[in-house]
Amino acid sequence: MPKSFLSKLTGSFSEGAAENPTVAMVEAAYRHHGLDYRYINCEVPPEKLGDAVKGARAMGWAGFNLSIPHKVNVIPFLDGLGESAAVMGAVNCAVSRNGKLIGENTDGKGFLQSLREIIDPTGKSVVMFGAGGAARAIGVELALAGAKHITIVNRDQKRGQTLVDLLNGKTPARTELTLWRGPYRIAADTEVVVNATSIGLYPDVNARLDIDLGSLGKGLVVADVIPNPPRTNLIKDAEARGCKTLDGLGMLVNQGVIGVKYWTGVDVDPNIMKRKLEEIFST
Ligand code: NDP
Repeated sequence: MPKSFLSKLTGSFSEGAAENPTVAMVEAAYRHHGLDYRYINCEVPPEKLGDAVKGARAMGWAGFNLSIPHKVNVIPFLDGLGESAAVMGAVNCAVSRNGKLIGENTDGKGFLQSLREIIDPTGKSVVMFGAGGAARAIGVELALAGAKHITIVNRDQKRGQTLVDLLNGKTPARTELTLWRGPYRIAADTEVVVNATSIGLYPDVNARLDIDLGSLGKGLVVADVIPNPPRTNLIKDAEARGCKTLDGLGMLVNQGVIGVKYWTGVDVDPNIMKRKLEEIFST
């Protein structure tokens, strides 16, 4: 084979791109597996998003991630949506398939993949804190995976109700809203607890969820979406009470693994990506 000097292209479109470490994580996997792909991190303002997608099409990109603020607004520029992205109405990963750009959402899928390493969500009762983008992605995947009951706990009534209506209307799960007013007591029949708020994210590392810690029962699965730092107060408190825990680094790594599989067809080693992120977050 003559050497090719033309790599396949992937990347990310967002605002605030300089703070996003995904490029380092994905390129570490490309290098480790000898994949002739590049990942280009692009700063794209909202009014240029259509042009950016057109550019990616013109250059034959294999696909790209979408981050804040493009996850919803990219949809009109794509040719179709995967199942969960259609239910969520949000895309974080576009994939070129047979000349068409299809929108997927890997945030919730990455979470689900991590969760399945310790528990199958089918038939389970879940309490999830938060109702923003991460909660929406996780809620839809949990519901499509067969979670029986999901309690959404959120401060803002409107945001919480919007997510409850979406899950009740478009998935088989039964979902209800509890407004977050004072320490929340987790019901004894709960099997999985998810923090999908931004509480505990760097630099606010001492923040704690307002929950009754005594209600974190032994054996409960407690998952946090916060990737930085991975050992949040919630994870530490839950461990101290004998819960099984899952940190946000696993979700971040797994959504990357799923995205790379969509673009290249290759299952990359999650440990390579995890190590790269740990290296970045520890400096
Ligand atoms: P949004 O801004 O869309 O939603 C934030 C949510 O957190 C809202 O429900 C908000 O409640 C709640 N919230 C924030 N602060 C507080 C507080 N002090 N007390 C109670 N509730 C609070 O953010 P996203 O959903 O996009 O992101 C949430 C977190 O998920 C981020 O920290 C992000 O880093 C993480 N994330 C992790 C990923 C991973 O791969 N590990 C992937 C994607 C996101 P209200 O509606 O009442 O304001």
